[in-house]
Amino acid sequence: MAAGLSAEEIWQKSLSKIAEKVGESTFDLWFKPMKLTQLKDKAATLEIPNRFFRDWIEDYYPTIISEIMEGLLGYTVNIKYKIAEKEDAALKKLDSKLETRRTKLASRGIYLNPKYTFNTFVVGPSNQFVHAAAIRVGENPGFAYNPLFIYGGVGLGKTHIINAIGNAIVDQHPGRIVHYVSAEQFTNEVIAAIRHEKMGEFKEKYRNVDALLVDDIQFIAGKTTTQEEFFHTFNSLYEKQRQIVISSDRSPLEIADITDRLRSRFSMGLIADIQPPEVETKVAIIRKKVDMEKMVISDDVAYFIATKVKSNIRELEGCLIKLGAHASITGMPIDINMARNVLKDLISDEEKPITVDIIQKAVGEYFGMKAQELKTKKRTKEVANARQIAMYITKQLTQLSLSEIGRSFGGKDHATVIYACKQIEDKRGRDETIKKTVEYISKKIKS
Ligand code: ADP
Ligand code: MG
Repeated sequence: MAAGLSAEEIWQKSLSKIAEKVGESTFDLWFKPMKLTQLKDKAATLEIPNRFFRDWIEDYYPTIISEIMEGLLGYTVNIKYKIAEKEDAALKKLDSKLETRRTKLASRGIYLNPKYTFNTFVVGPSNQFVHAAAIRVGENPGFAYNPLFIYGGVGLGKTHIINAIGNAIVDQHPGRIVHYVSAEQFTNEVIAAIRHEKMGEFKEKYRNVDALLVDDIQFIAGKTTTQEEFFHTFNSLYEKQRQIVISSDRSPLEIADITDRLRSRFSMGLIADIQPPEVETKVAIIRKKVDMEKMVISDDVAYFIATKVKSNIRELEGCLIKLGAHASITGMPIDINMARNVLKDLISDEEKPITVDIIQKAVGEYFGMKAQELKTKKRTKEVANARQIAMYITKQLTQLSLSEIGRSFGGKDHATVIYACKQIEDKRGRDETIKKTVEYISKKIKS
């Protein structure tokens, strides 16, 4: 073991470093209850009280544990979570059912999320149009609406519904090849194919599917080669009446920097948008999640969360995860007082002031990276660019000093912030995409 420390000593050291980073209250609630049960073959197994812990950590601090352990051990550690024995049998059964399905799909080369089905999707006025279209596409792929273009804000269910279409096609039309891919992954595959001269294989793979589901297509804006390749993929599938489903965080018209011919392809079938849910739909979604997780919460708590969380359904789930974890640790039932107390930093009665956290989250979401990455030292082009934009927006929208901004981005100095602001200011003048991007994110933050 590195530096002659035992596994337990390494874990204790990791914990104290984590505590420094995340602060006491977060540490006590989420990290302290974890136990290291095994450390071998570059893998660490952590025992957690229940699944909420895994969900929460993967959402908010996906890399913190492995990074800190790597710092101590000098090599990359693969983190595995093991749920402590006492978890409810019904939940375990559900978990293993999903796992079985996931493995079965993967063995056929289909990477759909088995959790995202029409069964688990709650329908309300805000999404019934998309839902109806999606059901028809699932029943009759290639012939109902082609392409189906779904757009809507972050956390409103696009990834869920697009996976649900895929799962429905797999179930109702056995043998069809369904391929789900994020536009980001598609882009990476194009780049890799070019670099390794494997374009033939790439084409073979993408042009032979029966249904292609592409998530977050806005990602290919500004990426000429990827757009070109997607255009040909699209045409080839379309001609053979294979189904194409596309999701985006904005309508085809609002995606700056894509070619007109692609924009017009997107509009050839049906365009459907998902609106933010009404309170009743939010309550129904909470009820559904609570049932699935075998949690017990009262109506006033459900209503409380539904009215406080404005639109993002992922945030609704975040509240439930937090409550579930808190209840399981304290052994107390979830009531309105606990909800008010535990969720106070997630939701507040007053208008929220714009904070660095909010900005980092918005920028992270826009670029499809975790907010946490903006605070790292990573210098890849994507992260550096996103970080500069986030610093720039922070300077614009908050009262923070340059040094304070630097500190909020993982301890950068004020010169770095000045440089970032200047870079973006310059680029805004020259580059329409940057200008639009900054405007779009700022607008989002202010709303
Ligand atoms: P998006 O891709 O639009 O950002 P997701 O599809 O990832 O959003 O949805 C965020 C979370 O909210 C997911 O866990 C999803 O299951 C859940 N969700 C969204 N819409 C619904 C719905 N109508 N019913 C049930 N769960 C939903
Ligand atoms: Mg999504």
